[in-house]
Amino acid sequence: MVEMPQCIGCGAVIQTENKDELGYAPASSLEKETIICQRCFRLKNYNEIQPVSLTDDDFLRILNGLGEQQGLIVKIVDIFDFNGSWLPGLHRFVGKNPVLLVANKVDLLPKSVKEKKVINWLKREAKALGLKPVDVMLVSAHKGRGMAEVVEAIEAYRNGKDVFVVGCTNVGKSTFINRIIKQATGEGEVITTSHFPGTTLDMIEIPLDDGSALYDTPGIINHHQMAHYLDASELKYIMPKKEIKPKVYQQNAGQTLFIGALARFDFVQGERSAFTVHVANDLPIHRTKLEKADALYAEHKGELLAPPSKEFIEQLPELVRHEFSIKEAKTDIVFSGLGWITAQHANVVIAAYAPKGVQVFIRPSLI
Ligand code: GDP
Repeated sequence: MVEMPQCIGCGAVIQTENKDELGYAPASSLEKETIICQRCFRLKNYNEIQPVSLTDDDFLRILNGLGEQQGLIVKIVDIFDFNGSWLPGLHRFVGKNPVLLVANKVDLLPKSVKEKKVINWLKREAKALGLKPVDVMLVSAHKGRGMAEVVEAIEAYRNGKDVFVVGCTNVGKSTFINRIIKQATGEGEVITTSHFPGTTLDMIEIPLDDGSALYDTPGIINHHQMAHYLDASELKYIMPKKEIKPKVYQQNAGQTLFIGALARFDFVQGERSAFTVHVANDLPIHRTKLEKADALYAEHKGELLAPPSKEFIEQLPELVRHEFSIKEAKTDIVFSGLGWITAQHANVVIAAYAPKGVQVFIRPSLI
């Protein structure tokens, strides 16, 4: 095999096959004496970070490297897909470095959601998962909400040291960093890229005022994300674009809701109750009788029950049943990456189905 050259910017090994992965450069660039990957090229010429992804093994290598550096780690998660966008094991690698947890896409939450409750929930979850962040903040990188506060917090917590931004693919890390670049440099200033000192960590360096730098790491593909089971053409249905509009269903025990063919919600036992569905506004919800639900799914998935459509339904892992006995009124049943259903009343038994690998869990309502 011919050994491929490295990018003179970030040090990634150049490849010409996959645009979304690290080190991509068009084949024509191989003829040049010095080669720069597309991600570094865009940063250099347009002051813009482009998303790239990495395999798990490569990420472990980067995480290992982080432990050897000193600085602030900014971990970005998708508020809508908290579990799907968590980086398991990060806390074992960060060493003594402080971690600032930033939850993105806050613009998607319905207005009725209380931000304080969201932050408390995030703090509890982080702790349960072994991470003790110095702070938890909510932002919308897309709309710019909360960004000034985060930039201020980064300045305060980094203590004159470097900043490393980490996150799964799709959490909005690139959008976030592009915001910071714009705030830090204004228009037109050229940003440089360079090798990470000593090692090849495939990070992109954005210089900060005092000689320190902010580093963008590649996004990690988390295989449990619902998004990976859908074709790009169908992703738009599950990823909310706008603030979610809650839909209320008055259900009797023995009724079932289907969310496309992606999830199923059985009301198994309890008095007539209200369930409020929080998913992307365009996702079709289908109501049926529990006793007919299995047959309906078998016959109509990919058609009446979609997305995914017929073409992609076979790629979707089988739905797995998770039963919960809900003791408290206002409990959310969360389908990671898809949304959640709030049980408004106490003492109900429900069963939530999601594709194998996608997490389903309950939490006190955020509203
Ligand atoms: P990366 O893979 O983490 O670098 O993510 P990107 O920055 O490419 O964003 C992934 C997707 O999330 C894109 O479709 C963005 O438009 C969207 N996105 C990013 N930030 C936000 C946000 O604050 N709110 C919403 N609603 N969408 C966002």
